[in-house]
Amino acid sequence: MHQTKETLIQKVTSYNPNADTDLIAKACDYSKEMHEGQTRASGEAYYTHPLEVAHILADMRLDADTVITALLHDTLEDTKAQYDDIRKAFSDDVAMLVDGVSKLTKIESQTVEGKQAENFRKLVLAMSEDIRVLLVKLADRLHNMRTLHHIERDDKRRRIARETIEIYAPLAERIGLHNIKEELEDLSFSYLNPEARETITNRLSFLRKEGGTIVKNIIALVTSLLKEGGVEAEVTGREKTRYSIWRKMQRKNVAFEQLSDIMAFRVVVDTVEQCYHVLGIIHGQYPTVPGRFKDYISTPKPNGYRSIHTTVIGPENQRIEIQVRTHEMHEEAELGVAAHWAYKGGSKDVYKDSKTYRWLRELLDIIDVEAKPEEFLENTKLELFDDKVFCFTTKGDLIELPDSATPIDFAYAIHSEVGDKCVGAKINGRITPLNTKLKNGDQVEIITAKNQTPSPTWERFVVTGKARSRIRRYIRQQQRGEYLILGKAMLQKIFQQEDYKFTDKAVAGVIKQFKADNVEDIYVGIGSGNVVAREVFKAIFPGHMTATAKKPKDDDDPSQVKPGIPQHKTSSKPLAIKGLIPGMAVHFARCCHPLPGDRIVGIVTTGKGVTIHTIDCDTLENFADTPERWIDVSWDDGPDSPEAHVGRIEVTISNEPGALGTISTVIGKNGGNITNLKITSRSLDFWDMLIDVYVNDTKHLYNIIAALRATPEITMVDRARGR
Ligand code: MN
Repeated sequence: MHQTKETLIQKVTSYNPNADTDLIAKACDYSKEMHEGQTRASGEAYYTHPLEVAHILADMRLDADTVITALLHDTLEDTKAQYDDIRKAFSDDVAMLVDGVSKLTKIESQTVEGKQAENFRKLVLAMSEDIRVLLVKLADRLHNMRTLHHIERDDKRRRIARETIEIYAPLAERIGLHNIKEELEDLSFSYLNPEARETITNRLSFLRKEGGTIVKNIIALVTSLLKEGGVEAEVTGREKTRYSIWRKMQRKNVAFEQLSDIMAFRVVVDTVEQCYHVLGIIHGQYPTVPGRFKDYISTPKPNGYRSIHTTVIGPENQRIEIQVRTHEMHEEAELGVAAHWAYKGGSKDVYKDSKTYRWLRELLDIIDVEAKPEEFLENTKLELFDDKVFCFTTKGDLIELPDSATPIDFAYAIHSEVGDKCVGAKINGRITPLNTKLKNGDQVEIITAKNQTPSPTWERFVVTGKARSRIRRYIRQQQRGEYLILGKAMLQKIFQQEDYKFTDKAVAGVIKQFKADNVEDIYVGIGSGNVVAREVFKAIFPGHMTATAKKPKDDDDPSQVKPGIPQHKTSSKPLAIKGLIPGMAVHFARCCHPLPGDRIVGIVTTGKGVTIHTIDCDTLENFADTPERWIDVSWDDGPDSPEAHVGRIEVTISNEPGALGTISTVIGKNGGNITNLKITSRSLDFWDMLIDVYVNDTKHLYNIIAALRATPEITMVDRARGR
C-alpha cells in the first residue's frame, strides 16, 4: 500500500532510463536517517512524507534532481543536515533547490490575511528562483492536504486549508498545473465549508441515480459521431469537482441542473487540423451555446494553455462543455510548466528559451537571491509595483497593463473615447465593478454609452498615466457644474426643513457676505465643502431660530426626524458610502436594495437628498435625461463595523410540507436573518415569494442564494431586481 524506495526508483526509470538510481537511493536513505525518530501527525515515520512527495513529482515525470530535492526538502529546516552536507553528498544544484524550498517553508509561517494573498502568491513565485522549487513546494502542500485529517485541531486544519485555497491553488493554476489546483481546492473546500460540499455531493448522487450513466452514454455517442466523420479520437468525460460547481453556483444565476460545467468532456487528437475538424463535426451535429466558444489554440492563455473550448446542447438535451486539443497540448495542460522540465531526454533549458513563460521568468529574475528575508519582502513589493498583467480584448488582442490595472485603465488603453464613455465592464463574461483589479488572462469587454462621461471616483483606482490624465482633465471641466447642483440641492433642503420658500433671489442678497461674484459661486462653495450651507441660511435669515438651535440634541434622536428627511437613514450617522458631501440626507432605494459589493449610483432628489441605486436598477431609466442629478458614489470599505443591509431575493418553492421551514433554516445557517416575506403568487404546486434578508454585503447574499439553489424544494432562486 505504501510507497517505497524501490517503487520510486522503478517509477523514475520507467520514463528516464538513464537516471542516476544510486543517487536517488542515497537520497532516500539520507532522508530516512535524518528524520529518524520524527513522526507525522498520523503517527507514521516522518520519512513517509518526503517519499510520497517524491512520488507525486515522479508521476509528473520530473528530472532526478527534482525527485531528490523532494526527498530532502525538509532536512535543512527540521534536521541537523546542513547546506554544505547536502552539497557534498549530492550536488550544488540539489543543495540550491533544497535551500529554495526551505526558504519558502520559512516565509510560510508568516500569517497572511485575505487581502495580502495575492502579494504572497507573487512573493512565493518570486522566491522560487528555479521553477522546480515551486513544483516541490506544491507537491509538498498536496501531500500535506491529503493527510490533513490527521491534524487534530480544527482551527489549524481550517487555517491550512484557507492558506491552500488562497495561495497554493492559484499558484498551481498560474503555472498551469490544473489537476493539482483542482485537488488542492476540493480538499480545502471539504475543511472550509463541509456543509456546502455535502449538499453538492448529495445533489450529484441524486442526479447520477436519475440519469444513470449519462457521462458514459455521451462519451459513446461523441466517439461514434467522430468516427463517422473520419476522426479517431480519445474521448473522456467526468464530473467537475464539487468546489468548482459551488463556485459556479455562487457566481452565475443558474440553477444546479442548468450548470453545463457539472460535466466536462475532452477530445484528444493527433493534429491541430484534426482539432478544427472535430469542432466542425460537433458544431454540425449539436446546437452551440452562444458566448461559450474559446479558441485558445490560435490565442493561447498567458500561462501557455492551448485548447478549444465550446459548449453545446448535446445528447439528452444536456448542456455539455467540450475541450478539444492535441496529445501534445494535453500533456502541457496536464503538467503545465512542469512539461518543460519533464524528462524528455533533451536539454533542460527549454524553460529558459520558452517565450510562453516570459512573464514568469521576468518575475523570477527580479529577486536578488542573496538578500535577507526581510529585504526580500521589501524589494519584491517594490519591484512588483511595475509588474504587468496581460488581458485580452473580446477579439483576442493582448493588452499589456501595469499590475493593479482596472477595466478603466484597459478601456483607456484601447482608446481615449472608449475610456471616456465607459459605463461598465465584463470580465470573463461577468459584469464586474470598474475598480476590479485585472488578472493575467482575463478577457475584458468594455460597455460604453454615448452620454457617459468620466467619473472623478475613477481617479482613485486607475494606475495608468493615460487614464489618470484624461480623467483629471475632465474633472476640472465638470467639477464646477457638479458642485453647483449639489450645493444648490443642499441649500434647498435646509430651506424646506425650516419651511421657507427657496429662491435664487434670497441667496443673491448674501453674495457679498461670502465674497462671491454671483449665486452660482455660493452653490459651488457649498457643493465643494468650502462654504457651510447652514451658514448661508443663517446669513439670509439672521433672526431665525433654527430647529438645531432650539433642540441641540435633535439630530441624534430618531424620533425627532424632521419632515422631508427620509426616515430610514439620515446622515447624522456615518454612512458606509464614499462620494457624498457631509450634510446630505441619504437613503437606499427600495426598488433595487443596494448592498456593499454592488456598484452604486446616487440620484439627487430636491428636498430629499440622495437616493442610492444599484447601477443596473431599471428605475435609473427615469433619470436618463437628467444626468446632472447623478452623483458617483461607492461603498466605503473602511474599518467600520459591518452594517446589516436588506437584500431581497425571489424564490419559487414547491408547495410541500416543511418547504418554508427549510428556507428559513438554510438562510439562518448561512448567517442571514429574514426581516420580511411576501408571497407574490401561489398555485397548487408552486409558491412565488419575495424574501428580505439582513446581510452584510453582496457576497453574503450570493452565498445564501447558492445555498438555496442547492436545496431540492426550491425550484428557482435569484436576487430580486427592480420590484
Ligand atoms: Mn514537507
